[in-house]
Order: sequence, then C-alpha cells, then structure tokens
Amino acid sequence: MKTMTAECPYCGQIRTVMVPEGLDPDVELFEAQREAMATCNCMQGEAARVKDTVLSMADQHIEDVLRSEHPDAADLFQQAKTLVFDGKIKKLTIREGSGGKAELKRTKDGISVSYEKTNKTELST
Ligand SMILES: [Zn+2]
Repeated sequence: MKTMTAECPYCGQIRTVMVPEGLDPDVELFEAQREAMATCNCMQGEAARVKDTVLSMADQHIEDVLRSEHPDAADLFQQAKTLVFDGKIKKLTIREGSGGKAELKRTKDGISVSYEKTNKTELST
C-alpha cells in the first residue's frame, strides 16, 4: 500500500488515503478518490455511501428474490433500481403473463423487492 492525497469529490476536502501499489496512474487516482469519498465524513459523502449501500443491497435482493425463476423481471429491476432510489420512479410493478407479480419500490429508508404468486416473498433494506 502507498499513501496518497486525494480530494473528496463531494466537499473538496483533501484527505490522505492508502492505495495498493503498482496500479496504473488512472486507476490509482480513481481508487484514491473513491477512498477519499468513502472515508470523508461530510454530509454529501454520507449520502453517497448510503446510496451505495442501499443499491448494493437492492441488487442482492433482486437476485435472491427473482433471478432463478424470473430472470426478465430481475433484469428490468436491476436497470430501474437507481431510478427508484432517486425517487424518479416510486414503484415499478411487473405483472407476468403467468400471473405472478413482482414489485420494486422505494421505502422510507431503502428499496424493497417482492414477488407474489400465492406466497409473497419480500426483502427490504
Ligand atoms: Zn467530503
């Protein structure tokens, strides 16, 4: 690891961060900025961290609830999850020809993924 300084992209604060040795300069800069953002305690950085966490959990929930039996719904929800997080789409419902219903929606703190046929399966953040 080596020590670098990088600017938090949200608040501009200069932070000292550790990055792995031997990276390409571009990758190194990217890693340093990502690390600066991840460790900065500004409010804008915090919001970005929350978004990252919620989206990666939503990604996992979409895969867990839908991928094996409803791959088309999984693909659509993966594409839509950022829009749902940002509130541009509040809720997305897919009604399958087979009668199942998949739903992706914004909740107070995160995103919920559900699939309902006769028994509802729901995971939310
Ligand atoms: Zn910051």
